[in-house]
Amino acid sequence: MPERLFGTNGIRGVINADMTSDLALRVGKAIGVVMGGTLAIATDTRTSADMIKTAVSSGIMSVGVKVLDLGVLPTPAVQYYVKMHDNVNGGVMITASHNPPQFNGIKCISADGTEASREEEQLIEARHSEEIPCAPWDSVEGMHRIGGAGEEYVDAVISKVDSEAIKKAGLKACLDCANGAACETSPLLLKKLNVRAITLNCNPQGEFPGHLSEPTEENLKDLISLTQATGSDLGIAHDGDADRCVFITSDGKFVSGDKSLALISKYVLSKEKGLVVTPISSSSLVGEVVRESGGKTEYTAVGSPVVARRMIETGAVFGGEENGGLIFPEMQYCRDGAMTIAKMLECIVKEAPLNSQISKLPVYHTVKAKIECPDDMKKHVLEYLANASAGAKTDSTDGIKIIFDDGWVLARPSGTEPIFRIYSESKDEEAARSRADKYETLAREYLNH
Ligand code: MG
Repeated sequence: MPERLFGTNGIRGVINADMTSDLALRVGKAIGVVMGGTLAIATDTRTSADMIKTAVSSGIMSVGVKVLDLGVLPTPAVQYYVKMHDNVNGGVMITASHNPPQFNGIKCISADGTEASREEEQLIEARHSEEIPCAPWDSVEGMHRIGGAGEEYVDAVISKVDSEAIKKAGLKACLDCANGAACETSPLLLKKLNVRAITLNCNPQGEFPGHLSEPTEENLKDLISLTQATGSDLGIAHDGDADRCVFITSDGKFVSGDKSLALISKYVLSKEKGLVVTPISSSSLVGEVVRESGGKTEYTAVGSPVVARRMIETGAVFGGEENGGLIFPEMQYCRDGAMTIAKMLECIVKEAPLNSQISKLPVYHTVKAKIECPDDMKKHVLEYLANASAGAKTDSTDGIKIIFDDGWVLARPSGTEPIFRIYSESKDEEAARSRADKYETLAREYLNH
């Protein structure tokens, strides 16, 4: 078996510890021989972006494959470029998404713009440790710099929503890009939709990230106060590579990804009935709202490629993750931060202000805990928790989900970090908290014994 390089979202590691230019070069050669033809590449704004991009590109070019350098772009903008340009056989995005600044990563994109399948990743894994012969000198291609991919993406997003209705509404929004990949595209999107934007951390030359780039309530305190202080209709925040997006209401409430997934599901289902696909970690809020809106929910393992592929197979009308990564089939089968902004604006303009829509949603309480856990211990912790739950109703779609009458606990190892995650949800806040505590304590006891 080749060494497993790819986690849930590409290859990630700490720069110059496990994510080195040597590794990037070898992976680049493997990507070149596996994907072939012409490949597009782009990065987020991390200081290590050029180091990894040039090493990967060098590897790709050394095997006779042409590289199109799209510059700094959101991950979904690269995916859209690959999907729309028939001369491009695939793509590579250099990003570690929401991970802290010491990380970077390599994510591969298939010819149809979706995230590379596990089979493609396995081929790359198998080849990266081999000695791959270089192409003859006269078949080495250059690196071609391509401008305008960001605007092409923004215009496509605008074409998928009722842009006239949004433009007429004259909304005001605060936008926080965490100094990440959407620094140019998301302000441009808002400008083209006649949304007055007050920007925060939208400087790609600024310190990366402007704050830790996981868009959580804690990391978005400045955005929350700015949204309220400026009387904006909403606040908008991306993670580092802008495949995800979360919102803030005009009265300063953080809208978790579950809630925006539920709201947009309801809006999509009001126009077309069908299936909504989401991972097993999503709140029961999504299932409840989908059911009330005349749709059906299908649950998958965690990981957006799994959700996207299931959406393709089932012809689902919508899908996405509880972290704000929403997938719109009319645009493309991947998480799309700009599309999420545009659709939420349309939903506000057509339905009601964000705060009043949020206040009408059923209330579930979710407690999330994460426990540091070495990768080689993850399997054992999972077994221990499964044994501790013997006799209970469980679901093993991903990790272990223990189902109670009034809620559930999901315990699963992270695919990208040495972390074990516990999610607990119930309509009863105390029950959610005590169950999260119980499973967190069990996992810690096992790890410390
Ligand atoms: Mg991301």
